[in-house]
Amino acid sequence: PAPFDVQAVRRDFPVLAERVNGKPLAWFDNAATTHKPQSVIDRVSYFYAHENSNIHRAAHALAARASDAYEAARAKVASFLGAVSPNEIIFVRGATEGINLIANTFGRTFIGSGDEIIVSQLEHHANIVPWQQLAAEKGATLRVIPVDDSGQIILDEFRTLLNNRTKLVSVTQVSNALGTVTPVAQIIALAHAAGVRVLVDGAQAVSHLRVDVQALGADFYVFSGHKVFGPTGIGAVYGKLDLLEQLPPWQGGGNMIADVTFERTVYQGVPNRFEAGTGNIADAVGLGAAIDYVQRIGLDNIAAYEHALLDYATHKLQAIPGVRLIGTAVEKASVASFVLAGYEPAEVGRALNEEGIAVRSGHHCAQPILRRFGVEATVRPSFAFYNTYEEIDRMIVVIRRLAAARR
Ligand code: PMP
Repeated sequence: PAPFDVQAVRRDFPVLAERVNGKPLAWFDNAATTHKPQSVIDRVSYFYAHENSNIHRAAHALAARASDAYEAARAKVASFLGAVSPNEIIFVRGATEGINLIANTFGRTFIGSGDEIIVSQLEHHANIVPWQQLAAEKGATLRVIPVDDSGQIILDEFRTLLNNRTKLVSVTQVSNALGTVTPVAQIIALAHAAGVRVLVDGAQAVSHLRVDVQALGADFYVFSGHKVFGPTGIGAVYGKLDLLEQLPPWQGGGNMIADVTFERTVYQGVPNRFEAGTGNIADAVGLGAAIDYVQRIGLDNIAAYEHALLDYATHKLQAIPGVRLIGTAVEKASVASFVLAGYEPAEVGRALNEEGIAVRSGHHCAQPILRRFGVEATVRPSFAFYNTYEEIDRMIVVIRRLAAARR
């Protein structure tokens, strides 16, 4: 039973009233991006209607409004993640830019020739490619923690990979391809015992479970606004303040400087030093509204309801002949990746779209983990708190029909 009124929640999301191919839209592509509640849409348009300015506080009234709204959003992100201070939050375009920022600041400063960076086999390409680029530049090596047959990280393998050349561990908290919730708290504890910093990719986590960076002990944490019911083009990096203060800037330009001559530049403090140029002010403010929305519903309520939905979908899918679930870890969130014998994932995706049901079929920007399971692509329904059991039943009808037609 839902701890909240799912029909009331659905009315907050105008796009959920869309029809596709004559059928009500069922949005099961939440791992790719989530929809926006009216409060977020309204907040962004209010910004442009009443507050729009660049953020240079002293100049005039609208500048003060825009600056206040932007900094209020930063404080909301800080409290959402359990950060000590808003100064630990850097606005970026999204998780991808956040990871690239850490690679280009922490990575370039602290990772050198012969050093090692550890990622897991579950990672999204955004948490692989920047480290490969850094490793190639520095002569460092990327090491990979393998997963077991359920798609869970093998902690014992991680223990053996950690050594005195390890300079950073960068792991996802929730796999976008399989839905695995990884033991990041234990990974961080083990890494810290070895004196190694940890970056957590929270892109798939923040919309499904309560995150507390202090309880986790994460050194860095990144996420994208668009996956947590906020706008695209905005996301955040959390970094421990003392650590951020040791890092050089990445991009240079306006806003990030205290003083410039042709001979030298003095940079701003943290976090402004990492926010060169005019940022995505309106969408940062929109992200703040998304966080307000999610916190009103409550992440514990969201997690409980989604867990029940995922269990329901998993059992129904498993009962269909020819369905193979990819990713069966005990701890999962949102994602039910599968393949159906006799069909390409893309064919299944098209058949579902005919019925108004949106899933992703493809490699989900996580090719290595799919290949670990011997597939190049899966069908990936991914659930959010505005999904219903009825929508899952509609999906199951289509998959059953395809499975039956195969024989
Ligand atoms: N990491 C994970 C686990 C993801 O799921 C995604 C988005 N699919 C990203 C990173 C990258 O996020 P973005 O494309 O919003 O930068």
